[in-house]
Amino acid sequence: MPDIKQNLMLVKEQISKAALDCGRNPDDIMLVAVSKKQPISAIQTAMQAGARHFGENYIQEAVEKIEAIGKDTVCWHFIGHLQSNKARFAVNYFEYIHTVDTLKLAKEISKQAEKINKIQNILLQVNIGLEDTKSGAAPERIIELAQQASLLEHISIQGLMAMPPWFENPEDVRIYFTKMRQIKKQIRELNLAHTPMTHLSMGMSNDFTVAVQEKSTMVRVGTSIFGSRE
Ligand SMILES: *Cc1c(COP(=O)(O)O)cnc(C)c1O
Repeated sequence: MPDIKQNLMLVKEQISKAALDCGRNPDDIMLVAVSKKQPISAIQTAMQAGARHFGENYIQEAVEKIEAIGKDTVCWHFIGHLQSNKARFAVNYFEYIHTVDTLKLAKEISKQAEKINKIQNILLQVNIGLEDTKSGAAPERIIELAQQASLLEHISIQGLMAMPPWFENPEDVRIYFTKMRQIKKQIRELNLAHTPMTHLSMGMSNDFTVAVQEKSTMVRVGTSIFGSRE
């Protein structure tokens, strides 16, 4: 059994150190504990150790867990691929949806949010490495997507999310994080409606310290907290 409490403390320490070393306030970085494929008991252990943000990837699995733990006990983040026909569930159960990559999906989310009188926080997912196997809008299309989605009344575009290509050496990922930071700045300067664009959701177990150095505000860490998923 992995020691979730100790792992969590270690990850928090690493985030704080990375932040302080580059002059950032550690409080500006949300640690999203990625609990996909982990049992409810693991989430509860992390909660007891102080985790307040959890990321889930699969709607059905997530709904069961959130029903058991409570919608408002902690902050839930949807970080998996979302099909439009599941948007209703994502809107009902999650405070943040990180993976919006088409206008069609943004429209459906806004429509479902209107039904329950909610402004849904979303992030736009960028396929920053232009990988066939990954979701996300291509970098050259993301500004247009932001402009179009910003016209929707019931979403708030909180920022950008990415899953860059995997490298053994996290330093090799840095250029992708830097590109994300630049795209975020470009969109921010457009001052679009419903678009605070304050967040950058990037960094996972292997590379979150580099992501923090490149101004990530939401790191999504699974394995380093909960151990392996298999
Ligand atoms: C699984 C997952 C993570 C966490 O990955 P680890 O390498 O286990 O930290 C982060 N983001 C997304 C989108 C994921 O699917």
